[in-house]
Amino acid sequence: MITYSLQGQNALVTGADSGIGKGVALELAKAGARVLINHVDAQEIAQLTVDEIAAAGGEAFEFHADVSNEAEVQAMYAEMFKRWGTIDILVNNAGLQRDSRLVDMTLEQWQTVININLTGQFLCAREAAREFIRRGVVEKRSKAAGKIICMSSVHEVIPWGGHVNYATSKGGVMMMMKSMAQELAPHKIRVVSIGPGAIQTPINHGAWGTPESLNKLLTLIPYNRIGQPEDIGRLAAWLASDEADYITGTTIFMDGGMTLYPGFADNG
Ligand code: NAD
Repeated sequence: MITYSLQGQNALVTGADSGIGKGVALELAKAGARVLINHVDAQEIAQLTVDEIAAAGGEAFEFHADVSNEAEVQAMYAEMFKRWGTIDILVNNAGLQRDSRLVDMTLEQWQTVININLTGQFLCAREAAREFIRRGVVEKRSKAAGKIICMSSVHEVIPWGGHVNYATSKGGVMMMMKSMAQELAPHKIRVVSIGPGAIQTPINHGAWGTPESLNKLLTLIPYNRIGQPEDIGRLAAWLASDEADYITGTTIFMDGGMTLYPGFADNG
């Protein structure tokens, strides 16, 4: 049983039709929040999440917006404010990989990842912060004027050859999150990141899709299991709640120990 409530709060989760975003949306709804399910060209799949939330007595709607497109992001916020008036929680989750060795990486692969994983988080956070500052704290809803949760990765600290664009985007998210947190704290806005390790979603199917690949992956995870979207969902819902009211400007890693340098466990 959860001991906190997000009742009366409005949340936006980007990339919420799949994987971690879907897991986060379901947990936020379970805690009582209304949830905007953002997707890009996945209307029917996003609607399934909306229906699942509605079937459990919650409220949600889906909206197409490419998070790297300023006009589409602003249109999404306009629709949210038209329906629900304001926003309390942003989960900046949308992201992707375009993997390549550095010497073969195209400018298009580099820019796609930076545009969606980093610029997309900036655009969504800026719109949320504008509204949080305009509206301020609403005492009966939350101690904070707003909460921004950025989906980072263990790769904000673990370098990742073959994925230079992705690791760079997450390193950027770390410094963006910290700088936003510093700037926004006087407005009673909290900004935090979640750093997932290996979570079983479509983005990394190649890493767990066969018994051989899963066994290889598990050598990197001291806790010896792959994570699930609901693991991250529960953390996101708690971080959005007043139980986490004094947490801002930091990354909470949820990775089964992946950041513990497991290669050194037997003396390196
Ligand atoms: P996923 O592929 O299941 O989900 C990614 C979501 O982002 C999808 O819903 C997709 O539609 C959406 N998306 C992609 N481009 C978009 C755009 N331009 N505009 C709006 N939405 C867009 O993968 P996932 O594992 O659930 O990834 C979610 C987040 O978690 C990403 O930021 C990813 O980097 C991060 N992450 C995942 C893992 C993992 O092991 N799965 C680990 C660390 C970090």
